[in-house]
Amino acid sequence: MFNDLAYTARALIQMKLAKRILILDCDVHQGDGTASILSNDSNILTCSIHCSENYPLKKANSDLDFPISQGSGDDDYLSILGLCLSQIDHSNFSPDFVLYDAAVDVHRNDKLGLLKMTSQGIYERDNVVLSHFKKKQVPIATTIGGGYGETHQEVAQRHSIIFQAVKSVFSV
Ligand SMILES: [Zn+2]
Repeated sequence: MFNDLAYTARALIQMKLAKRILILDCDVHQGDGTASILSNDSNILTCSIHCSENYPLKKANSDLDFPISQGSGDDDYLSILGLCLSQIDHSNFSPDFVLYDAAVDVHRNDKLGLLKMTSQGIYERDNVVLSHFKKKQVPIATTIGGGYGETHQEVAQRHSIIFQAVKSVFSV
């Protein structure tokens, strides 16, 4: 088992394909492993938006952490996302590559996540993130992250949201 985000970020830098990488982790669970593994990598900025009450109970320290209270919905989430992107913009770290964990366990019907986002809210989240970095001309790679439901179909449906958002942002 290995941490794909940390591995990818370090590999891209080692291969000289990127100099400064932002890992934007929107899984409902904090990216604690990524944060700990990369805590001494000054060329990788770890940023996690997660639910305070979800696992892990004891959070690690990402470079930037945005905890959200359980039960929060689209409006709260999207306003914290806006704050997060503006803090990244105002930090001294200017990424030349972004790894975006577009997890869907923030959905209201997720079995593990304690947030209450709708599919439309997740679509807007993805749209905001993709448009933000497109405007800044920073390449972005997305991964699907957590998502837990009663049926594979239900979870697959939610994971399809990022593809719809990519199509809408990049086909213009
Ligand atoms: Zn998760």
